Amino acid sequence: MRSILHVDMNNFYASVECLYRPEIRNVPVAVAGDPENRHGIILAKNMIAKKLGITTGEAIWQAKQKAPGLVLVPPDYKKYLRFSRLARQIYYEYSDQVEAFGLDENWIDLTNSLQYLHQEPVAIADTIRQRVKEELGVTVSVGVSFNKIFAKLGSDMKKPDATTAIPYDRFREIVWPQPVGDLLYVGRATRRKLEAIAVNTIGDLARMDVEILQRKLGKWGEILWLFANGMDTAPVRKIGESEQIKSIGNGTTCPRDLKTEQDVRLVFTVLAESVAARLRDCGVKCQGVQIFLRDNDLMSITRQKKMEYPCCTSRPLIDTAMELFRKNYRWQKPLRGLGLSAIYLVTADKHIQLSLFDDTAEKLLVQEKIEKTVDELRFRFGHEAVLRAAALLDPKLTGFNPKEDHTIHPYNYFR
Ligand SMILES: [Mg+2]
Repeated sequence: MRSILHVDMNNFYASVECLYRPEIRNVPVAVAGDPENRHGIILAKNMIAKKLGITTGEAIWQAKQKAPGLVLVPPDYKKYLRFSRLARQIYYEYSDQVEAFGLDENWIDLTNSLQYLHQEPVAIADTIRQRVKEELGVTVSVGVSFNKIFAKLGSDMKKPDATTAIPYDRFREIVWPQPVGDLLYVGRATRRKLEAIAVNTIGDLARMDVEILQRKLGKWGEILWLFANGMDTAPVRKIGESEQIKSIGNGTTCPRDLKTEQDVRLVFTVLAESVAARLRDCGVKCQGVQIFLRDNDLMSITRQKKMEYPCCTSRPLIDTAMELFRKNYRWQKPLRGLGLSAIYLVTADKHIQLSLFDDTAEKLLVQEKIEKTVDELRFRFGHEAVLRAAALLDPKLTGFNPKEDHTIHPYNYFR
């Protein structure tokens, strides 16, 4: 039986902001995007704001109605990254299997280190909780269980600053009465499908006929059924392994609705440039593109496509994104948000097979040199030092530096 912790920093962004500004500690605080730019949603809030009913994802004006004295702070990801790293330094002392899930959550597998630690998993959880509070000034909640899914569930059950154990011999009594939507990877859409077949709790899911679930949810039907029955066997990745990135993406909510293909192309261009620069920073190339479109009714779609050659330049990203866009969007509604991700990442030194019959690959290499030069200029003189002429067509639409202020969405990939 494994011993796994899931450590979740409570109200992470807001807690860090309150550390830097002790004077706002005892008032409702929310971290929110720039209201002028329509990024005006609540990204995180402190306990006091939470008690007043403020929720992540709601509009600033709604939040202000609930708490007129609400203090709004813009997000500062550099700070959060720093605290995230500091917390992980503490976790590393307890295991070499520490896997991050977002900036503020980590799994720690204690199975192999228990013999050296001379403490029970719950006691270790309490020690870590105490240490993060004393050394970093933020509270965490910890779940202790025999697999990742239940450890994560445990850290959500009691917060802030609490430890919840879900041991094997009691998991049915603790886990099964919980709502099925609390299970990791059961997003809103999946929850609705499950509720339609009278699966409301995790116990209902566990007792359901797995074939019915498969018919309803495909391969996820079986995976979720296994989770509910305590049979999640996914390992906690080793330090280093967990740094492996699967995709690099940027998204934005536009300052005005997008109504033409040219609008879309402009925004994709800015996003692609920043994604390409981040690929080069990480020394990787991508062999696929994924786009995300959200219309002004907040309906969204995601589409992806593989590419022939791995690349780390903006041109192929833009072209592929536009190709996907034209194929999949019919302009029923103007668009409000766009996202572009580079997927299927490979290390940059992987050889490209040059073709005798066309010069696509060679052109890619030339483009790569040009864009690397642009990176250097921007690094030395700022993002504005080099702009595409297209960016001058509509500076309001394209006047953001996505590499610096790209939106990190505060929700899980699967939701
Ligand atoms: Mg958290």
